[in-house]
Amino acid sequence: MNIVICGGGMVGMTLARLLRLRGQEPIVLERMPAGVFVPRGYMLGFQGFPTFDEVGILDEIRSQGWDIAPREDGSTVAVCVQVGRILDALARDLPVEYEHTVIELVHDPIGRVVGVVAEGPEGTRTIPADLVVACDGTSSPVRQMAGLDATIDPLPEGTLTWMSPEPGGVSFAMAYMSDGGHIGTLGWPQGSAGWRSIDKVGAQAALAPGLDAIKEMWIRLLPDSEKGVSGLTSLDQVRYGEPILLSCTEWWKPGVLLIGDSAHFFGPETGVSSGIGLGDAHALAEAVRQFPEDSDAACQNFTTWRTPVVRPYEAMDPGRQRILTFGQRQPGPGERWPPAEESSRSANVR
Ligand SMILES: Cc1cc2nc3c(=O)[nH]c(=O)nc-3n(C[C@H](O)[C@H](O)[C@H](O)COP(=O)(O)OP(=O)(O)OC[C@H]3O[C@@H](n4cnc5c(N)ncnc54)[C@H](O)[C@@H]3O)c2cc1C
Repeated sequence: MNIVICGGGMVGMTLARLLRLRGQEPIVLERMPAGVFVPRGYMLGFQGFPTFDEVGILDEIRSQGWDIAPREDGSTVAVCVQVGRILDALARDLPVEYEHTVIELVHDPIGRVVGVVAEGPEGTRTIPADLVVACDGTSSPVRQMAGLDATIDPLPEGTLTWMSPEPGGVSFAMAYMSDGGHIGTLGWPQGSAGWRSIDKVGAQAALAPGLDAIKEMWIRLLPDSEKGVSGLTSLDQVRYGEPILLSCTEWWKPGVLLIGDSAHFFGPETGVSSGIGLGDAHALAEAVRQFPEDSDAACQNFTTWRTPVVRPYEAMDPGRQRILTFGQRQPGPGERWPPAEESSRSANVR
């Protein structure tokens, strides 16, 4: 089967490796140069373990990170690791066409996707495909070009996150606040990160109280974060964001399939997004192995296998539950951020 993988992130590279193990030679197109990625606090949940085990990098990843809640038998529920270590391990010896952007899908007269147009340093070229796999992230240009709809639900809260060069005191800690909001920290051998939900006030207002106030609040609400927080020296290490949940009613149409973040994205406290995407890659590689001559049958099989895995996570995402209950409970004293909002907002709530 001629397979073109659009996007050489964690899921795209993993899919390529799994397909190669099954005798396929997919083409991977990645718009960024080799080795470029967005640094972030990252934990790999157990959902991704079998897939990384099969591609031969699980032990390496675990040895470079810190286990979360390890058990006596040596197993663990998750590992906190510098995300670049995973991407480097996946990229090793894997053919990827970097700096190639997919700009168009090619359709046959009855509307089936039969290839892509990619733009690279040498110009524009058309690549025929029996199956185009979108591994191009939440904003997925391929999903949009294919006309597959995504439902994007903004969470009712914003997030404040930080990244510190100081290794954390713990691999993971998290607490819920009185209004259902959450605060957490991740630690790995080279650094640490934190996140918390806050009022949706925009970056300027969220950062206005200043670095010292942010550090004081974090340590007070989550004492386990103290070591990582101590490494924060600039507001540039702190970010405001407005998270979304993403789901798609349909994951495929003839000739094109969505997997990973292009198909679904979960709330920040779940820690499952990549694990579910890696499971998608594994299911698709198996479906292709079973139906090497029929990409529609492979996609149909993929959908049958993944529906009972992915849809419950989508339905029960704690972020989605908070959309329903938002405003019914208030933060406890000292929990609201930014604190200046405390009086004005509580005055507006019945
Ligand atoms: C801040 C943050 C924190 C996160 N923390 C966690 C966590 O702790 N645990 C967890 O499990 N998950 C986490 N996630 C999610 C996790 O990073 C993703 O699920 C994982 O990286 C897999 O994504 P992906 O490969 O499907 O998409 P991406 O990582 O988004 O990769 C998509 C790739 O496609 C490329 N691309 C896009 N458009 C084109 C195009 N037209 N042509 C060619 N290439 C293209 C992009 O350059 C990119 O490399 C986090 C995400 C963010 C943003």
